[in-house]
Amino acid sequence: MRADGFDAVVVGSGPNGLTGALTLASAGRRVLLVEGAERFGGGLRTEELTLPGYAHDVCASVLAVTLASPAFRELDLKIDFAHPDIPGAHPLDDGPAVLVHRDPARTAAGLGRDGIAWLETVGAAVRAGTPLIDTLLAPLGVPGAPLAAARFGALGLLPATALARTVFRGERARAVLAGMSAHSMLDLGAALSAGYGLTLATLAHLVGWPVARGGSQTVADAMVARLRELGGEAVSGQWVGDLAELPAARTVLLDVTPRQFLRMAGHRLPPGYRRGLARFRYGPGVFKLDWALSGPVPWRDPAVARAGTVHLGGTFAEIALSEAEVTAGRHPRRPYVLLVQPCAADPSRAPEGRHTLWAYCHVPNGSTVDMTEAIEAQIERFAPGFRDLVLARAARGPAELERRNPNLVGGDIGGGLASLWQFACRPVLSPRPWCTPLRGVYLCSSSTPPGGGAHGMGGRQAARLALREP
Ligand SMILES: Cc1cc2nc3c(=O)[nH]c(=O)nc-3n(C[C@H](O)[C@H](O)[C@H](O)COP(=O)(O)OP(=O)(O)OC[C@H]3O[C@@H](n4cnc5c(N)ncnc54)[C@H](O)[C@@H]3O)c2cc1C
Repeated sequence: MRADGFDAVVVGSGPNGLTGALTLASAGRRVLLVEGAERFGGGLRTEELTLPGYAHDVCASVLAVTLASPAFRELDLKIDFAHPDIPGAHPLDDGPAVLVHRDPARTAAGLGRDGIAWLETVGAAVRAGTPLIDTLLAPLGVPGAPLAAARFGALGLLPATALARTVFRGERARAVLAGMSAHSMLDLGAALSAGYGLTLATLAHLVGWPVARGGSQTVADAMVARLRELGGEAVSGQWVGDLAELPAARTVLLDVTPRQFLRMAGHRLPPGYRRGLARFRYGPGVFKLDWALSGPVPWRDPAVARAGTVHLGGTFAEIALSEAEVTAGRHPRRPYVLLVQPCAADPSRAPEGRHTLWAYCHVPNGSTVDMTEAIEAQIERFAPGFRDLVLARAARGPAELERRNPNLVGGDIGGGLASLWQFACRPVLSPRPWCTPLRGVYLCSSSTPPGGGAHGMGGRQAARLALREP
C-alpha cells in the first residue's frame, strides 16, 4: 500500500467510489483510490468476454441514471452517450410489441385505451422533470419538487400489482409496467415495486435509456483520468482486507457492502451497529449472458431491433410469477429477461455487420443453476431463429460475479434488497446512513441511499459529509 500523505482514501472504484473520490479531489483533497480488481470501474467495465473485437459491458450497460444523475451533472465529464432510436420494447406473443419512445404521447398512442392513464401517471412525472428525478436520486434531501414528489410517492409506494390493477385496464400497459417494475428484483406484490417501474418509465421519456459509446468502461476511465488530473492517485489490483492496511488519512470512503465492511472493521464497530449491518438483507442474484452474434436478433416484430432495451417475459401475470418464484427461492421456468442490444445505439461494439447482445435474469441469491437454456428459450419465443446467429456466448452466475466483484454478494447487483424497509434503512436506520461509528469512515456503495444503479449519488453524499467534517 502507498505511504501516508493523503487526505482521503477511497476503497473501490465503482461509480460511487469514483464519484466520491472526484468530489473530494475537486474540493482540493489529496485522494488515493484503491481498487482490488485489475481494472477500474466496478459496475462500469467493458471487456471482450466472447471473441476478439466484441466489446461487452460486464455489468451496467444502460446508463439512464448516469445521464440523469445530479452527481454526474456536477462532475461535467465528457461522456459520449449513444441513444437507440427507441429506448425500450416489450414484445408480446400476440400483436405488435409495446414500444417505449422518448415521446410520452407516441408511447401512449401504442397503449390503446390506457394511453390517457400513461400520460396521467408517467406523463405527469415527466412534466415535473429534473427536480423530481433529483429528489428520487437524493431521497433524504430536501425535495426539489415537493408536490410532484408527494404525488409520485403515493403511486410509487404501491406494489406494481396494485398500480397495474387500479390505473391500467389493458394488457399492453400492464405488461410494460411489469417489465420496468421487475428491475427492482422485488416480488411485484411488494410495496415500492411500482416506484421502480415509474422511475424507469419517467427516465425513458426524460433523458432516454442510452449506452456509452465504446462501452461503460469509457465512463470509468474518464473518471480515473479526471482524478489524476486533479492530483489524485489511483491503484488497482490491491484488495483491502482490513482498514488497518490503509495509509493514515482523515477520510476513508468505502465503496463496499455491509458484509465486507464487517470483515474489514467488524471488531472496531460498536455491537449495536454491527448487529444492524448483520441484519442487512441481500436481494436475489442474477445470471448474466453475453453473446457475439453474426447479425441482428431476428425479432418477430422488426421494430424491436431499433430498441436499446428489451423486456422479455410476456404478460404482467407471467412476469409477476417469474419474480414471485425467485423471491420464493425457486428458478422460474420462463424467466423475466432484461436484454440490451448495445449495437442499436453503438455499432462500434462489434465488427461491421456483427452484433453483441447482453442479458440477465433473476435467480435466488447464491444460485448455482445454469439459466442459459431458459434465457435463450425466452429470446427464441419472440425471435425465432436467434440461436442460429450465436457465434459465441459467455455466462456468469452469482458465484462468478461475486468472485470478480465482492460487492455482488450472492449475485445481488443492487447492493442489497430494494425493499421499502431497506429504502428507509440503508444500511441502517439513520438520518446520515453514509456515516459509520468510526470517525472519518464512510460507506458510499449502493448499499447506501439511493441504492443500485450507476448514478454515483452514494459517493457524492458520503464525500460531501466528509468535507463538512471539522
Ligand atoms: C450484470 C449487471 C448489470 C447491471 N446493469 C445495470 C444497468 O444497465 N444500469 C445501471 O445503472 N446499473 C446496472 N447495474 C448495477 C450497477 O452496476 C451498480 O448498481 C453500481 O455499479 C454500483 O456502484 P458501486 O460503486 O456502489 O459499486 P461497484 O460498481 O460494485 O463497485 C465496487 C468496487 O469496489 C471494489 N472493491 C470491493 N471490495 C474491495 C476491497 N476489499 N478492496 C478493494 N476494492 C474493493 C470492487 O472490485 C468494485 O470495483 C448492473 C449490475 C450488474 C452486476
